[in-house]
Amino acid sequence: MMEETKATKLIKRAETTQPKLTGHFMKVVHDQDLSHAYLFSGAAGLGKLALAKVIAMRLFCKNIQSNGMPCGVCNECVRIAKNEHPDVMLVEPDGRSIKVDQIRTLKQEFSKSAVEGNRKIFIINGADLMTTGAANSLLKFIEEPVGNVNSFLLTDDYHKILPTIQSRTQLVEFPKIDPVMLVKYAEGKQLTKTAINLVLQLTSDTATIDRLSEDNWLVSMKQQIEAWFSMLEKGDYQAFPLVQTNLLPLVRDREDQKVTIEMMCLIFRDVFNVKFKATPANELAFGNVYDLIKQMANQLSDKQLLSIIDDILNNAKKQQINISFQNILEVITLDCLNQIKG
Ligand SMILES: [Zn+2]
Repeated sequence: MMEETKATKLIKRAETTQPKLTGHFMKVVHDQDLSHAYLFSGAAGLGKLALAKVIAMRLFCKNIQSNGMPCGVCNECVRIAKNEHPDVMLVEPDGRSIKVDQIRTLKQEFSKSAVEGNRKIFIINGADLMTTGAANSLLKFIEEPVGNVNSFLLTDDYHKILPTIQSRTQLVEFPKIDPVMLVKYAEGKQLTKTAINLVLQLTSDTATIDRLSEDNWLVSMKQQIEAWFSMLEKGDYQAFPLVQTNLLPLVRDREDQKVTIEMMCLIFRDVFNVKFKATPANELAFGNVYDLIKQMANQLSDKQLLSIIDDILNNAKKQQINISFQNILEVITLDCLNQIKG
């Protein structure tokens, strides 16, 4: 198998998230029909940046594949993927906004090379975060494109973009990712069948799948949640030290906090689904500990179970009011034990 590089990963992501758009744009480049300016609109994780970069790779690649895709291994592809290509510029928010100076720098770079006649690509990620000054400065640039320039403006919602810019770009709305493609993508991350079930209940975008599967995070956390759940099932107060010594060290940031609580909720939702036979065992998020889930289902009344799920959801809200995460997990653990032993 070919070695994975940043560039081959990008190609894979574009093909997974947006197979139709990717195919479409490869053909457009082949037919030399690319417009000067595009506005890519769609939620985070739908592959906007991946596709913009893959189009740039396709324009510069020295070794176009028989399927019309860039190779992902030549010097051009590799440098574009790493944002090190002199003719492909990526502008991203500096802090919370894209400032007028950033657009000015971009324009200077382009006017230099336009003289040399090189093709130039610029990608503005988070185009809705341009200050008014930046947007106006860009506007003039898009109105009078110099030389061989293609621009890609990326936003999560094109309504946030100035109408004057909208009208000078070609809008491309990114559709949701096909669930079948998402499963394929998760399979490519070497996740087990139940880990895939779990990840697909946590997210529907590839960027989050990447994040969750990085350094085996999801699998490690899943094991800890299962150990925690097993202690709850036995009514064992060792669930407390476990939270502190095994679970908390895995939590790197707020995003991890959110996912951890979602996973706690999901394992109890599995109990609910087993109790009411709502979901086949092979579709559970924690199907690998089915026996444990079944035991919990037998042990709890409907009322207790709903009360636990409610408790977890209510405690999850405390994340917004700066209560320590350890404290939140301990309250959840205590509430669960009270219901289970109750
Ligand atoms: Zn290449």
